[in-house]
Amino acid sequence: MGYANSSMVTYTKLSPNHSGQRTHSIDRITPHCVVGQCSVETLGNIFLPASKQASCNYGIGVDGRVGMYVEEKNRSWCSSSNSNDQRAVTIECASDTKSPYAFKDVVYQTLIKLCVDICKRNGKKKLLWLGDKDKTLSYAPKSDEMVLTVHRWFANKSCPGDWLYARLGDLAEKVTAQLGGSSSGTGTTTSPMYRVRKSWSDSKSQKGAYKILSNAKKCADANPGYSVFDVNGVNIYTSKTTATEVPSLVKVSITDLNIRKGPGTDYAKTGKFTGKGVFTIVEMKSGKGSTAGWGRLKSGAGWISLDYCKKI
Ligand SMILES: [Zn+2]
Repeated sequence: MGYANSSMVTYTKLSPNHSGQRTHSIDRITPHCVVGQCSVETLGNIFLPASKQASCNYGIGVDGRVGMYVEEKNRSWCSSSNSNDQRAVTIECASDTKSPYAFKDVVYQTLIKLCVDICKRNGKKKLLWLGDKDKTLSYAPKSDEMVLTVHRWFANKSCPGDWLYARLGDLAEKVTAQLGGSSSGTGTTTSPMYRVRKSWSDSKSQKGAYKILSNAKKCADANPGYSVFDVNGVNIYTSKTTATEVPSLVKVSITDLNIRKGPGTDYAKTGKFTGKGVFTIVEMKSGKGSTAGWGRLKSGAGWISLDYCKKI
């Protein structure tokens, strides 16, 4: 397929900083944050000197206009990765100078349109955000798929900034919708989701997936040993209640600790108390009325609140 440039471009200042024609067809888009609310003209001046050794295919200025600095057919010097930039259209977007490097809404809306345009001209019906670096870099896109990648995977940078990073699922969804494609079927398009699991690799342990972080944290808190993971599998929160290995020995220092028929204050009392002493717990569960969870006594007498136990 022949390469073309976007008709959305209203300002062109070609940079000498590129490698000539791509060696790989376009199947990625890599949006960046400029770290400055600048215009397309300023971007043009930044990438003009050969000494800068950097460029991008397109830039979106703070007012939403689109500039071109390296023609789409050529490999720009943008993402600190030869293999990425050979196949990616790179887009620098005007952003705040401080984390999370937020974009103006007009810039984000233009980015959506520009991605749609790039996908259309390159025969793509879907824009995918797989969220995970390893998964993405090893993914072989189908002929009608375009894949989002980010600079932070190739260099010690926060680019494209947490603001855009959190919206890449949204960007992929909106672009795919405008292309008339469906994001179902691949099972790979994800909106930002917080997953509660024992560990990222243990997907079977998943208790739930939440759009709202505080809800994910609540779920983790209710499940000792569970953590909240972001779309990249980064552990961003571990429940305050820690997992206790069972069987384990606990010490009870109060005389009137109720033994219940199940793990929670919503289960009936057996009418018995542990009394002071050391007990063996053979199972742990989260449940109503106890922050630390509930432990089942080896004796078979029932369950006790671990809030009143000290692990020994
Ligand atoms: Zn970047």
